[in-house]
Amino acid sequence: MKKTGKVYLVGAGPGDPGLITVRGKSLLERAEVVVYDYLATTKLLKHVPADAELIYVGKKGGVKHTYTQEEINQMLVDHAQAGKVVVRLKGGDPFIFGRGGEELEELYAAGVAFEVVPGVTSATAAATYAGIPITHRDYTASVTFITGHEDPTKKSSNINWEKLATGAGTLVVYMGIKNLPTIVENLIKHGRDPKTPVAVVRWASTPEQRSVVGTLETITDVVKNADIKPPALIIVGEVVNLRDTIDWYEKRALFGKRIIVTRTREQASELVLGLEEYGANCLEYSTINIVPVESYDAFDEELERLKEYHWILFTSLNSVKYFFKRLYEKGMDARDLNGPDIAVVGKSTADLLLTYGLNADLIPSTFTGEGLAESLLDQGVEGRNIFIPRAKQAREILPETLRGAGAQVTVTPVYQNCPVEGDKATIRAEFTDHKVDMITFTSSSTVRNFLTLLDAENQEELQQLLQGVKIAAIGPITAKSVTDNGLEVHVQPDQFTITDMVDAVVDYYSCDSSK
Ligand code: SAH
Repeated sequence: MKKTGKVYLVGAGPGDPGLITVRGKSLLERAEVVVYDYLATTKLLKHVPADAELIYVGKKGGVKHTYTQEEINQMLVDHAQAGKVVVRLKGGDPFIFGRGGEELEELYAAGVAFEVVPGVTSATAAATYAGIPITHRDYTASVTFITGHEDPTKKSSNINWEKLATGAGTLVVYMGIKNLPTIVENLIKHGRDPKTPVAVVRWASTPEQRSVVGTLETITDVVKNADIKPPALIIVGEVVNLRDTIDWYEKRALFGKRIIVTRTREQASELVLGLEEYGANCLEYSTINIVPVESYDAFDEELERLKEYHWILFTSLNSVKYFFKRLYEKGMDARDLNGPDIAVVGKSTADLLLTYGLNADLIPSTFTGEGLAESLLDQGVEGRNIFIPRAKQAREILPETLRGAGAQVTVTPVYQNCPVEGDKATIRAEFTDHKVDMITFTSSSTVRNFLTLLDAENQEELQQLLQGVKIAAIGPITAKSVTDNGLEVHVQPDQFTITDMVDAVVDYYSCDSSK
């Protein structure tokens, strides 16, 4: 039997990728074709299977549409008739100024099955993220959503401004920036108090959010002076005043800060999540790729004689990860580690180790190779047999110090770092346009690879590109790599963990808001 396709019209929500519904996300996860708009945040596309077809159909107000509405309708019909699971992803809610109804009428006419998933519409999101409750018992009992796209002077307008001006409570105008002067003029002319507060919110619920406040009399100038462009919503009503107390989103410590996070591709983006929690706008650049070593012959030999070791040392998260990956591949497990004691370089490594069922026997008070060496020396290592599974390219200080103190040390690579070919033009543009506030480095290799990616001609150009940009380094070794390259470190946590790094960045910006 021929597989029958279906179109799911899904509301993507207003911009914050966390605001899609659970149902919408689960449909994206099994989509075969995704047809998405300008306002449907591309951050959601990460949920889509890698082999799905992604079709961007544009639709940016004022700019030439990438596809006509007829072409979009036909595209949906064609893919569904070809038996595909099609997700039609639209910004906000598909039925609120989203032409969702029109698309479904076409599908109905073509006999294509469909379902609809509502979304958080930008009006409620803009109000919420600007700290404005759109209804409030003390101020208003109604709220009205209006399109401002219509020319309010045209005779055949569907909008009855006369009734809206005095008969409705809070007003929220979509697509109204271009017509703002006529909209406010109409409201005042028909009896709304010129002193009524108005907020305009652009790119609501995204790190790019900007909001300005005025009154019906002043808002046109306020918007012009602040150079607020679409997409933006206009919120009119006394409730706007509540923003003074309720504003929460834009008040977060890192709101509006553009922070580059250099990381390895496989590493969990704990740092990004941590910084975003405080409102930072993070740009992730994968500067290194962690990959297995070409041959595990040497490592496998060590696995055979694990019991002979007194200590196994894990000096990075990846050493734990790749150690166990290979251990499992050889049909072994944590029980094979019941002989040696285990030392780790820091708390995160200890936490990861615990997920494999093992408690670290030793965590140094300073989370570096030197710190680990010192703690081991305190215990006495003479004559001890020590195994260090680690990166192919790593510093020799730890094994050398231990050998110097009379230990037998075996160092075997379990993974390696490879630089990633990045998009040099995009990353450079970030700096030449002076958009970046801070760069974070979590290891010396992220520093090296970031500089390779940026590819400055000489020290002078590097200084120029990074002028005014702050640098955060996770620990002293990483910091040294930064300063060795002639750059300054502005933020460095006391403890070398991601959580401490996030806290240090927050502290840095909280002490002085002018930074
Ligand atoms: N279906 C969408 C609306 C589409 S109409 C929804 O439910 O939100 C397009 C208009 O929506 C834009 O011109 C702008 O007024 C508004 N809009 C959409 N997303 C927005 C956002 N993140 N911030 C501010 N306004 C937004």
